[in-house]
Amino acid sequence: MNIHEFQAKELLRQYSVPVPAGSVAHSVEQAAAVAEELDVSRFVVKAQIHAGGRGKGGGVKIAHSVEEVRAATDAMIGRPLITAQTSPQGQFVRRVLIEQAVDIAREAYFGLVIDRASQRITIIACDGGGVDIEETARNEPERIVREAVDPAVGLLDFQCRKVATHLKLGGKQLPAAVKLMKALYRCFRDNDAVLIEVNPLAVTLDNRLLALDAKMQFDDNAIYRRPHISNLRDFDEEDPKEVEAGAHGLNYIALEGNVGCIVNGAGLAMATMDAIALHDGKPANFLDVGGGASPEKVTNAFRIVLLDKNVKAVLVNIFAGINRCDWVAEGIVRAMRELKVKVPVVVRLAGTNVEQGRAVLAQSGLKFLTANTLDDAAAMAVRATSGATAHEHIHK
Ligand code: ADP
Ligand code: MG
Repeated sequence: MNIHEFQAKELLRQYSVPVPAGSVAHSVEQAAAVAEELDVSRFVVKAQIHAGGRGKGGGVKIAHSVEEVRAATDAMIGRPLITAQTSPQGQFVRRVLIEQAVDIAREAYFGLVIDRASQRITIIACDGGGVDIEETARNEPERIVREAVDPAVGLLDFQCRKVATHLKLGGKQLPAAVKLMKALYRCFRDNDAVLIEVNPLAVTLDNRLLALDAKMQFDDNAIYRRPHISNLRDFDEEDPKEVEAGAHGLNYIALEGNVGCIVNGAGLAMATMDAIALHDGKPANFLDVGGGASPEKVTNAFRIVLLDKNVKAVLVNIFAGINRCDWVAEGIVRAMRELKVKVPVVVRLAGTNVEQGRAVLAQSGLKFLTANTLDDAAAMAVRATSGATAHEHIHK
């Protein structure tokens, strides 16, 4: 789960990580009020979306007066913002962060991630940060330093000093950097984060260290025990199909292809997507209906898959172990009737009660393409997307 920059900064404040003074605003009036209260001579207006690259995309604007704050806010709120990290249509902006503009001497990059190989929270830092970090990482990888944290002892001072030295922080900046890094580490660990990215970590002209941007991601599997984090979830930033699927206990991830997939089991769902790709097709989604796929669940799965207008064919691939093919078949028939499915539907059933399941489909009087193997099913579904299904066996 991702959170907004303004939320991340509020969390960081609780850990005494220095961030610029500022507050979120949902309207031009509110933005002006926040600016008045800040009482500084320069402001930054920052679009709050769950995507980076805002600086280069026009989502971060300096303002020299409350009037300019109004104008910049008006230009951002209620419009999509397109950045290198959003879809081509952009992400709709509903709120902005109004904060004090600081005088930057230098920008560095500081991140915390979980390194799966070493199974440790790991610092990734670079002495050059800011909006060109991706390029630096590509062209000058030697400028990036990594430091893994032993969970038994936590992040130690000498490790922070090592990273700080790499970031060319010395003198009075050194103890400040150690304090900041340890606070970020605590914030990461105590909240079950999987990513904290401070880019830029700024050195100001008056020699202070400040987190000017903050991106945070949390472990979805641990969210249940962090209500103060799950409360920050912004459904507007998520695919509505994924949100609805989650509410029905379905594991659905929207993708870009045109073959809708309804599968039981995450492993089989992955294999199904691979098989589609092998036949030069593209899956429209990942969907695991889970073990106890009741007719209701299958109907919901169909409905969500078909919300995606790119879907030109649906591939149902069920290997019933705990499931029963006849229940799944009932679900398919019900979904086809209730939803008046117009696209070709390929069904491959295997496992428990497979004969009963096939009988349910055959007796329904509905049109299906049926296949016995995953490979055949994938080939049929890909062909069906272009309407070339004539020579296939169609149940009438
Ligand atoms: P993004 O990463 O989405 O582009 P950032 O928050 O990193 O957005 O902002 C982009 C750039 O804008 C930063 O690298 C920094 O140079 C500048 N900036 C951001 N916040 C401030 C601030 N409070 N004061 C001065 N400059 C800022
Ligand atoms: Mg940034």
